[in-house]
Amino acid sequence: MRHLYIHIPFCARRCSYCDFSIAVRKNVPAREYLACIERELQLVEAPSGLDTIYLGGGTPSLLPPDALTTLLTSVRQAFPLTDPAAVEITLEANPEDVTADAASAWRRAGVNRVSLGGQSFDDRVLRWMHRVHDAAQTGEAFRALRNAGFDNVSLDLIFALPAELERDWSRDLDQALALEPEHLSLYGLTVEARTPLARWITRGAATAPDDERYAGEYLLAHERLYDAGYRFYEVSNAALGDRRSRHNSAYWADRPYAGLGPAAHSYDGSARRWNLAAWEQYRETITAGRSPVASTEELTDEQRELERIYLGLRTSDGLALTASDRLRPLVTAWAAAGWVVTRGDRLVCTPEGWLRLDALVRDLTELNGGR
Ligand code: SF4
Repeated sequence: MRHLYIHIPFCARRCSYCDFSIAVRKNVPAREYLACIERELQLVEAPSGLDTIYLGGGTPSLLPPDALTTLLTSVRQAFPLTDPAAVEITLEANPEDVTADAASAWRRAGVNRVSLGGQSFDDRVLRWMHRVHDAAQTGEAFRALRNAGFDNVSLDLIFALPAELERDWSRDLDQALALEPEHLSLYGLTVEARTPLARWITRGAATAPDDERYAGEYLLAHERLYDAGYRFYEVSNAALGDRRSRHNSAYWADRPYAGLGPAAHSYDGSARRWNLAAWEQYRETITAGRSPVASTEELTDEQRELERIYLGLRTSDGLALTASDRLRPLVTAWAAAGWVVTRGDRLVCTPEGWLRLDALVRDLTELNGGR
């Protein structure tokens, strides 16, 4: 186990589309949070050496920089790093939190990769999303990160927004590329139950995302990013050169990882476990000296096979194909449709294939299972 995820659940406000496990707080209870992580570090078996640490949320950049420094110091004391100079430490940050001082403090604390939640460069759209920042702040945040010495910055954008917003996706891509991030993550809007967005759609105040717009914007992004030198290495993620997210790549390569904090998941190669999701419940449980693990699931052979197919097809490394006569007609039909290509003994999705990833995984799983 060489990969550690730490969930920092606090957000200043809930975004209109978000159903993550978060705690909306004006003031982050940093001291209580750090005390919980300290205790959890003692409960978890120390890994042999960490290659990556990912601080996700929530909004990890809401944690005061001195608290973030303490957090990373505690982790380093409890868990050895394989190579302190080479470990990847990612911080998810929202633009409104990125000041020159904060960025410098994060660098000093050892953070060497920032994933910035820009989402759009249209202020009207950002207000609709209930984001705290405006477009100008994303540019300022980016420059502050560069000035502090960050040479590995990722930018998140959301596409396939409701038609009535008249969001100019092409313009947003131009603005994102103009910042020259090393990495881009592009997520299509999904409607999750119990979000403001779901309520707006139910009462007719917003239209549900439509498949045609989703496909058009996704394929346009592929074209634009390819021309700018980026390569998609996963269905939603593209990088310049070797600037892939090493942490997320470990998930997609089915490697074990540990998770700390509310709602964090861990995986040891055969079983998954996850922590209590609600911050208060997690805090009370840990403070009472009990384990915060909510549940554990041993993966069945069927689940492992489904996982292997899904993880393989979602990345540009593709899925290792076993020579099987049963598979050949399906793969031939997919290739003719332009959804996959074969590279050696691996099946790799094209952008058109990634658009129908769930359907391809379902068909392949059914065929593999002989059903
Ligand atoms: S900042 Fe991120 S985690 Fe927080 S509410 Fe918005 S989308 Fe959800």
